[in-house]
Amino acid sequence: MIVEILSTGDELLTGQVVDTNSTWLMDRLWDLGVMVRRKTLVADDRADLVAAIRETAARAELVVMSGGMGPTEDDLTAECVAAVLGVPLELHESSLRVIEERFRKFGRTMTPNNRKQAMFPRGAEVIPNRFGTAPGFAVKVARGEVVCLPGVPLEFKGLADEWVLPRLAARLGDVPAARVLKLFGVPESHADDAMRPVMDDPANAGVRWGYRAHWPEVHVKWTVPGPDAAARADRIRDAVRAIFGEAVWGEAKEELPELVVARLAARGERVALAESCTGGLLAELVTRVPGASNVIDLGVVAYANAMKERLLGVPAGVLAVEGAVSEPVARALAEGARRVGGAAWGVGITGIAGPTGGTPEKPVGTVHVALASAAGTVHVERQYRGDRERIRRQAAYEALNLLRL
Ligand code: ATP
Ligand code: MG
Repeated sequence: MIVEILSTGDELLTGQVVDTNSTWLMDRLWDLGVMVRRKTLVADDRADLVAAIRETAARAELVVMSGGMGPTEDDLTAECVAAVLGVPLELHESSLRVIEERFRKFGRTMTPNNRKQAMFPRGAEVIPNRFGTAPGFAVKVARGEVVCLPGVPLEFKGLADEWVLPRLAARLGDVPAARVLKLFGVPESHADDAMRPVMDDPANAGVRWGYRAHWPEVHVKWTVPGPDAAARADRIRDAVRAIFGEAVWGEAKEELPELVVARLAARGERVALAESCTGGLLAELVTRVPGASNVIDLGVVAYANAMKERLLGVPAGVLAVEGAVSEPVARALAEGARRVGGAAWGVGITGIAGPTGGTPEKPVGTVHVALASAAGTVHVERQYRGDRERIRRQAAYEALNLLRL
C-alpha cells in the first residue's frame, strides 16, 4: 500500500511551524504496518500545489493532505484539488449549516469567506469535523484517493483517527500488531546487539524491527504481520522483557514521569527534591503530571553551596573537601530534602552541565544522583555526553528512574 503525505502552508517552509502532523500520522501508519513512501511540503502557492497533488496522486494509492482548508485567501487546497480534477467547486449545503450553527453557538459573526469552508470539488466525499470549523474531504484522483484535512493539529489528528485510519485498516485487512517497550539506560546500539537472538529467531520471520532514541530513553518497537499477529507480538514482548530486565520501564503510550507519580500515589508515598544542576527540571517533570500534588512535598533549587548548607544541611566541611559535585553532597542533598520535606523519599542531584566548569577529575557531564528513604540512601554516578540541555535532561530522568525502581 503506497501512502504519501502532502503538507501545505507557508509557515512550514519558513521554519515557523514544524510539520508535526505528518510525523504523528507516520507513527500511526507504522502501527498499521504502513511506512509512508514520501512526504512533501509545499507553500501556499497555486501552481506548486496543483503540481504536487498531481504528482503524489499519480504515485500513491492514498495521499493524506494537511492544511490549506481555512477561510482565507491563502487557503487553496479545495480549489487546487478541483483544478487537478477539472471540476468546479460546489457549495455543500449541510456543511454550511453546520458551520453557521457553530458560529451561532460560539456567538461569533460569520463572514462571507467562511462559506468557502463549505465549498468542495464536485463529487467529493465530505468528512464532518466536530473538532473545528472546516470539514475535510476525500476525492479519487488518478490511481488513488486524496484525503484533505485541516492543518490545525487537533483537527488533523481528530479526523485522521476517526476517518482515515479506520478506513485504511479495513482496506488492509489483517492489521499487523505493533508493540513498543521503553528502555532506560541502554544505548541504542547495545539494544540492537542484545536483540539479535530475537530478531534472528526463525519464528519471528517477517517481523519489522525498529529502534527509536527518544532521548534519554530508547524505544524498541516491532510490527508483526499475519493472522495471529497479536499472539506472536506478545510472545516477542516476553522475550524482549527477558533480555532487558529492569531496564524496561514501560510500554506503548506510557511516560516515565506519569508512571512514577502513579506508583508513588498508589503507595501513598511522597517525595521531596533537592536539585542543583537540573535547576528544577525534575520538579517540572513531576509537577506537569496531573495529580502531582498527591506525591510531591517540596522541590528546591539549591545552586550556591551556601544554600545547600543553609537550606538542606549539607555540611560545609563536605562541600569544601569533596566539592559540590560529589557523592557525599548528592547523598546529603537527598537526605536533607527528605528531612525538610518530611517525605518518604528524598532526591538529590548535583553535576556539571557544562559547557565550562569541567576538570580532568570531574569532566563536564559528571552527575551524581541520590535517593534517600527510610531504608537508606542509594547513589549513582554518571558520565553523560552531550550539551548542557542533554546532560540536565538525562540527570532528571536518572532520578525518575531511581524513583521507579
Ligand atoms: P485554518 O482554518 O486555521 O486556516 P487550515 O486547514 O488552513 O486551518 P493551516 O492554515 O494550514 O490550516 O494551519 C492552521 C494552523 O495549524 C497553523 O497556524 C499551524 O500552527 C498549524 N499547522 C498547520 N499545518 C501544520 C502541520 N503540518 N503540522 C503542525 N501544525 C500545523
Ligand atoms: Mg489556513
